[in-house]
Amino acid sequence: MGLGPDDLARIVSASGGKPFNARQLAEWIYVHRATGFADMTSLSAVMRARLSDDYTIGRMPYTDVAESVDGTRKYLFPTSTGGAIESAYIPDGDRATLCVSSQEGCRMGCRFCMTGRGGFRRSLTAGEIVNQIFSIDESRRLTNIVFMGMGEPLDNMREVLGAIDVITAPWGMAWSPTRVTLSTIGVSESLPLFLERTRVHLAVSLHSPDAAVRGSLMPTERRYPIEQTVRLLRGYDFKGQRRLSFEYTMFAGVNDRLSDADRLARLIGGMGARVNLIRFHRIPDSDLAPSSEEAIVRFKSRLEQHGIITTVRASRGEDIFAACGMLSTAKKEGRI
Ligand code: SF4
Repeated sequence: MGLGPDDLARIVSASGGKPFNARQLAEWIYVHRATGFADMTSLSAVMRARLSDDYTIGRMPYTDVAESVDGTRKYLFPTSTGGAIESAYIPDGDRATLCVSSQEGCRMGCRFCMTGRGGFRRSLTAGEIVNQIFSIDESRRLTNIVFMGMGEPLDNMREVLGAIDVITAPWGMAWSPTRVTLSTIGVSESLPLFLERTRVHLAVSLHSPDAAVRGSLMPTERRYPIEQTVRLLRGYDFKGQRRLSFEYTMFAGVNDRLSDADRLARLIGGMGARVNLIRFHRIPDSDLAPSSEEAIVRFKSRLEQHGIITTVRASRGEDIFAACGMLSTAKKEGRI
């Protein structure tokens, strides 16, 4: 699980198979979703036996699921370090989105995020990322995948690219890249490669156009200043199928004034980008508070006056700790 044709070809060849068996193996794993080699009837019996002796498919069942009154379901998957990662299934009309994790923990340390507070353990393999998609109950119903769960995807570039390949390649799930969105704080070492290697949508966590305010929310502003990220992004074309959006979590009295909206519009105007305003889910022991509905509406219409398409992300699953990292933290602390 998580491997592409080249790696599968190496496995096949080491098991005495022919190159075309690699394609068959990919088809069994990603299209037929086989959970064991014995099911792979187009492979010879000898090869199936050899593969069973030396390998596993890598499917890992979830250990817990919490369901919100609004239908959002949060899954917990165990990891090899004894911890847990989260995936959130979010049904919304015709859309069924899965928010996947790319790391166990995160080193970016955003002040408003429970995952960031818990520190970093390790990066997930492409197989562990893809497993989240295949192992939830609604797997076959999914229409969209967002890399917005635990971790900074561009801090785990190789494995995340491997997972995106599985999702979008003809030998994998063969999804259109427009059904996938990756969210990043703007890791400048990896961003160009990501933009050149894939066609999936990009969401950048912005949260304040002011470097000092952003730095107080996101310590990574010092290393990856948003102005530098925006300058880099201006060198790419987002007017076609690929979408660029900026994520903006609204904190009362911190980043929700109209002057912040004006400054944000000056920073990102003319790029064909949209803004997603996000209602903040309170987290324990934090003085950050959500903006009022009136402040959000005012902020949205100010951005629209500047010609920026702006949406407000619906608040989902608050009753099941839907904010990133809250469920696994509760589990770790024995509260659930
Ligand atoms: S918001 Fe994202 S990048 Fe920031 S600490 Fe949390 S998981 Fe990491």
